[in-house]
Amino acid sequence: MTTHDQLVTKLKRAHTLGTVAELLGWDEQVNLPPDSSDVRAEQLAVMAEAQHAAATDPEIGRLLGEIETQISALGSQPSHKATAGTATRSTSIADSDQMVIVRHARRDYDRATKLPADFVREKATHSSQAFHAWAEAKARDDFASYAPFLEKHLALARREAELLGWGDRPYDYAIDKHDPGLTAAQITTLFAELKLGLVPLVREIRESRVRADLGLLHDFPVESQRVFLREVTERLGFNYRRGRIDVSLHPFCSGTGADIRMTTRFDADRPLRSLFGAIHETGHGLYEQGLPRVHLGTALGQAAGMAAHESQSRLWENQVARGRAFWQFFEPRFRALFPAQLAAVSSEALYLAVNAVQPTLIRVDSDEVHYNLHILLRFELEQKLFSGALAVRDLPAAWKALCAELLGQTPANDREGVLQDVHWSGGGFGYFPSYCLGNMMAAQLWATIRRARPGLEEEFARGDFSGLLGWLRENIHAHGRRFDTLELVRRVTGVELSPQPLLGYLRERYGGLYLK
Ligand code: ZN
Repeated sequence: MTTHDQLVTKLKRAHTLGTVAELLGWDEQVNLPPDSSDVRAEQLAVMAEAQHAAATDPEIGRLLGEIETQISALGSQPSHKATAGTATRSTSIADSDQMVIVRHARRDYDRATKLPADFVREKATHSSQAFHAWAEAKARDDFASYAPFLEKHLALARREAELLGWGDRPYDYAIDKHDPGLTAAQITTLFAELKLGLVPLVREIRESRVRADLGLLHDFPVESQRVFLREVTERLGFNYRRGRIDVSLHPFCSGTGADIRMTTRFDADRPLRSLFGAIHETGHGLYEQGLPRVHLGTALGQAAGMAAHESQSRLWENQVARGRAFWQFFEPRFRALFPAQLAAVSSEALYLAVNAVQPTLIRVDSDEVHYNLHILLRFELEQKLFSGALAVRDLPAAWKALCAELLGQTPANDREGVLQDVHWSGGGFGYFPSYCLGNMMAAQLWATIRRARPGLEEEFARGDFSGLLGWLRENIHAHGRRFDTLELVRRVTGVELSPQPLLGYLRERYGGLYLK
């Protein structure tokens, strides 16, 4: 075995342990009996410890050192590049598969070894306990009982940043964990430009006399919803021999390309919610299933970052599945499954319901037009929590005030305010911006794809989504973590990440429906 192969074996072992922990996390949200959460916290803590031990194995450090020495010796030989041939010359040594794997392995190893095992265990235990505390607090609308858990999460996040040398910029570290290379300052600039274009569009649509009627859709039997959802997601390309879909309180997608676990939830009176939730998670699943399987466990078998991940889920959910071509193909099947429920619903009314724009307090229920305002709110509050400008106890009030300002509505309670999202309960700070960045990226990719494949929507109308999936496989999925978010966008679309394609897309689709 070469030194590189030995390194990859070690990396895959650590990765595999991580996937076991992820499976326990999936089970926790899908199957776990309510009183068994204490056992699960213990199991997850032990798994986190084992995974951390595998990721900090001194043998990884030794192998990395050896390979880096070999690489620097190669780099100092001027003849190497000249004899490497055109293929190698166009891809620099820095971009070669081996270098990408080694560069990320070094970064991950250095990070892991800077975190003491005690800290890792404490964080894992706290995350599991805080998740259950949050779920209970949300059910009882009792923020005060959850506040100490959130405070401890913030303290842990600050300590983690300090241990890793980001002590002066802990929030940037939280962002970097999800989207390497991005900073709060860059995101602030992008979000400000987005807000400038979004606020007037929201106002115009709110003043429109056109209204979607979601009340038209009720009594959709869950069994038939399941059938439709399965047909749709399968046709989009999801491989059910390497994945499954179950029910959980909050939809999510976990696992790797070898075994994807998606969830959704059903409501007889909200058939579009489970459908679009499932399509969103399918977008995540397709990305994972499209990552090069031979590289699973190394950087080349991992997603580029959470913004890239969200760009995939959002693109399938919104640009594709809310479009006319998609419904041209699926509407007859939808009607065949729900003939009585849709008998009095015209095609235009159905399409408007699919693209309903109505402000809501709940992020996951939000339409595309309002959605990014929900993220702007969370981004602002997270920054204040990290800077110390906002204390946890003042969070509910700050949430309500900002909600009124951005969404024009005030939550009546914390359940539909600060307690609505699961992320912070697991210490997932810095994750929210990825949603909005993902929306921007999705729209920018969409504009690029439409230029590259002018017949794309005719393909959709025929029920053929393989052209789009193939394009994404080639341009996004195949790269794994080779490029960071901003570079990936630059390479694939030819320009820097910008909110303008998103604003253009929203105006085209929703302006066409509401501003006639
Ligand atoms: Zn998502």
